[in-house]
Amino acid sequence: MRKYVIMGVPGSGKSTQAALLAADLDLVQISVGDIFRWNVQNHTKMGAQVRRIMAAGELVGDDLAEAVTAERLAQHDWNFGFVIDGFPRNRRQAEFFLETYDIDAIIVLDLPDSEIRRRVLNRRLCVGCGINYNLIDSTPAVPGRCDACGGELTTREDDTEEALAVRLRTYHEKTNPVLDLFRRKEYVITVDARPVPDAVQAEIRQQLGLPPQKPQDSQESQESQKSQEPQESQESQKSQGSQGSGSA
Ligand code: ADP
Repeated sequence: MRKYVIMGVPGSGKSTQAALLAADLDLVQISVGDIFRWNVQNHTKMGAQVRRIMAAGELVGDDLAEAVTAERLAQHDWNFGFVIDGFPRNRRQAEFFLETYDIDAIIVLDLPDSEIRRRVLNRRLCVGCGINYNLIDSTPAVPGRCDACGGELTTREDDTEEALAVRLRTYHEKTNPVLDLFRRKEYVITVDARPVPDAVQAEIRQQLGLPPQKPQDSQESQESQKSQEPQESQESQKSQGSQGSGSA
């Protein structure tokens, strides 16, 4: 059983790295931001509650964030463990998390502010399957269309200059201090998030003492991340949505 948390500034590649880690270790990938986004896209009651907050780049209330995370983890579909990103984001959430779960390691993805802006402002999201594209490094074959499902590529509502500034400030003010709490109790590793995804993943595994990705898996996992992960996570989000907080 392996239980990991991935933390890092917006655009540092948390969900990409979580997917690569989850794929061949059979971990369940849980993204709290994806769960909220699924609710917004599907016009649930929870979606209506969080839409404006998210678009402004602010944090959703702790009660809701904790409930969503606890409910998702309570599904106990993680036989080999989980990797969670987007939680905890402040001291209260971290205390709740530490009281409830036994975490093996916190993975911190480190990225300079200049690179964050470049990545986030060039990010596009497929409305069909949820795949992320970066117009600099992973341009789609047909502009504006998803390679995997042909869906329309849109900009995340919070990937604007204004919302990014709020998200960065929140990260530095509220999320970063949480690391001190973790450093006292848990095993924290910091990884340079600037290299290409496979290289970042290799560094994570090396620091955690995990087996490296098999070379053929590396390509496949990138592909499967494109074709499967969003569907898998949408499934889990659907069930989250249908059970979640009475809010779906
Ligand atoms: P990023 O890390 O790039 O800001 P995420 O997809 O993780 O993006 O989260 C998007 C938004 O979802 C956040 O800006 C916030 O509004 C909300 N959110 C996600 N996780 C939490 C959390 N643990 N507590 C409060 N709000 C959250």
